[in-house]
Amino acid sequence: MKRRILVATTNPGKLAELSDLLGTVNQQIEWCCLKSFPHVSEVVEDGRTFVENAQKKALGYAQATGLWTIADDSGLVVDALNGEPGVYSARYAADVCPSDNRKDIDIANTQKVLIHLKDTPDKDRTARFMCSLCLAAPGAILLETEGAVEGMINHSPVGENGFGYDPIFYIPSLNQTAAQLDHQEKNRISHRGHAIAKLKPLLENLLEKK
Ligand code: IMP
Repeated sequence: MKRRILVATTNPGKLAELSDLLGTVNQQIEWCCLKSFPHVSEVVEDGRTFVENAQKKALGYAQATGLWTIADDSGLVVDALNGEPGVYSARYAADVCPSDNRKDIDIANTQKVLIHLKDTPDKDRTARFMCSLCLAAPGAILLETEGAVEGMINHSPVGENGFGYDPIFYIPSLNQTAAQLDHQEKNRISHRGHAIAKLKPLLENLLEKK
């Protein structure tokens, strides 16, 4: 029998990415997302780390629905900003951009990073995207993985693809920003891609045992 697993998102893109990257494990899973649970209240992401937020969401939604739940938290960590925007990546520039428009938010967030780094020399502009994934059952964490992709913060945005901080995230090994990569290549090298790839064998194992 298939195991029903909730992905703690209302974004169908995230669900598709997860099931794409998990490949054959999908045959054992019936996926659903938070759209199927409109009455479940939102779990607040107020953890101090990506790991804490992923755990909190996975445990919270698992408890509320009775289902195994996968949650993630991700963001940009800039060394010269002492790890900021970090867990505040989604609304880093909320102080100057009250808009709810995704494009406006992305532009304000990237501008804020660039302004803070305006006097930072190239060698100190190191950064990484990080992702924590957590699978929980009601009351118990079952699996956890992390993924990261290393890069440098550009001096200005480059590229049209992707979202968020992608246009200012330069990946030296590819000589491109994340916003210059196509969707497939981004998934292959991304922090989320790495975290999901690590989850795959662990999940396979777990499904065999249960
Ligand atoms: P979430 O935890 O996946 O919702 O990500 C939180 C925030 O981190 C997003 O709103 C983006 O600002 C930023 N972020 C996470 N992943 C990426 C990425 O792959 N590219 C660019 N920005 C990202």
